[in-house]
Amino acid sequence: MSEQNNYSFFNSVERSFDKAAKFTQWDPGILEQIKACNSVYQMRFPVRIGDRIEVIEAYRVQHSHHKAPCKGGIRFSLAVNQDEVMALAALMTYKCAIVNVPFGGGKGGIKIDPKKYTEYELEKITRRYTAELIKKNFIGPGTDVPAPDYGTGAREMAWILDTYVAMHPGEVDAAGCVTGKPVSQGGVRGRTEATGMGVFFGIREVCNMKDTMDKLGLATGLEGKTVVIQGLGNVGFYCAKYFRQGGCKVVAIAEFEGAIYNPDGFNEEEVFKHRKSTGSLLNFPGATNLVKNADALELDCDILIPAALENVINAENAPRVKAKIIGEAANGPITPEADENFAARGVLVVPDMYLNAGGVTVSYFEWLKNLSHVRYGRLEKRFSENMNKHILGQIEELTEKKVSDIERNFIEHGADEVDLVHSGLEETMITATREIMEIWKTNPQIPDMRTAAYVCAINKVGTSYAELGIFP
Ligand code: GLU
Repeated sequence: MSEQNNYSFFNSVERSFDKAAKFTQWDPGILEQIKACNSVYQMRFPVRIGDRIEVIEAYRVQHSHHKAPCKGGIRFSLAVNQDEVMALAALMTYKCAIVNVPFGGGKGGIKIDPKKYTEYELEKITRRYTAELIKKNFIGPGTDVPAPDYGTGAREMAWILDTYVAMHPGEVDAAGCVTGKPVSQGGVRGRTEATGMGVFFGIREVCNMKDTMDKLGLATGLEGKTVVIQGLGNVGFYCAKYFRQGGCKVVAIAEFEGAIYNPDGFNEEEVFKHRKSTGSLLNFPGATNLVKNADALELDCDILIPAALENVINAENAPRVKAKIIGEAANGPITPEADENFAARGVLVVPDMYLNAGGVTVSYFEWLKNLSHVRYGRLEKRFSENMNKHILGQIEELTEKKVSDIERNFIEHGADEVDLVHSGLEETMITATREIMEIWKTNPQIPDMRTAAYVCAINKVGTSYAELGIFP
């Protein structure tokens, strides 16, 4: 339960679901089935840490089996509990449906503070957790495929893969049992930056919609918009990078220790280096310190990006938030009460379960790569380059004009893996944004974009159940 509310994170996902279900035509039984968590695996296992034995609490939840495998990250955090993992697994189901990634939702969590352990101890915990998943058939390329989440990354995914492979010798598709792996272990180029890049593509598409910007009193397009980012982890860092490159000014960045503000904007690389060398964001040259990091959420800006944890914007602070657009890069950063406040004040909340879907979208590309056993672009890159050279040569010969070297490199270039992954992600985020906005526009009773996104998800999962048929 959060401090302000008497309902849990999973209840809040259920509330958002119920709000949207009213705008769909599904049988109540189907709606109940979509909403329920199908399997919840709670485990305790012992790990020797130094000279003592620690009993570790962990979870894996498979929210929906309407498609296989289940998909979703594993987080390492002291805040992990069953309710949180259930809520996050449910969000994964809806997220995958919206971006047409053919997976059911899943999520895992280990209740530890990863900073308190050595690398060797973390490896032991991760490998033991994987073994527990294997025992109960809760991991595998066709059953359930974990990925990074809060507190985990490519290193942990490599340990999971290695444990799985060791226990499934000869399984030809074993590399598809986990995504977010290092590229040398079957990962895909472009996965690391995928979530932040997806957030950027989604918000850019929203900002390119003139009618939406007119309603908010903002100019169309991203150019010159001010952005505040809460969290400088993987997602926040790449959000800052792409918004800056897209013509925005990142005027504030917040982390545990506080926040920094500069109306002229920050370069995230410099801020990252400063934090690494001094251990804190604070005292960045030329910036004003905000000692309470929550104050950054209330700064004057066009776009606010919460990119850390859930429930950071609630009934108490929502009325003081001045941003016109809030892009939920984290999962569940806004409580339902805060949502109501924003809807009433005409603040546009671009919801998590579609906006942060870039990670799982590129995980899907990685899984496809693993099952096809070939790097993207390997077959066609050289062919395209030869063809492009030939076409350009012909044009130059006929027109008797030469293009510049920069243009030549750009036109002749055949797509590499990272080009294909980025463009696949861009296409996915643009299509999803338009689909959700279309639902919202054609049904004016829908109060906010989150509800429209849920309607989109419920209709897709509902269709899947209806087509599967329900056992008699
Ligand atoms: N943990 C990420 C999320 O919440 C990625 C999940 C995945 O790639 O499966 O969407």
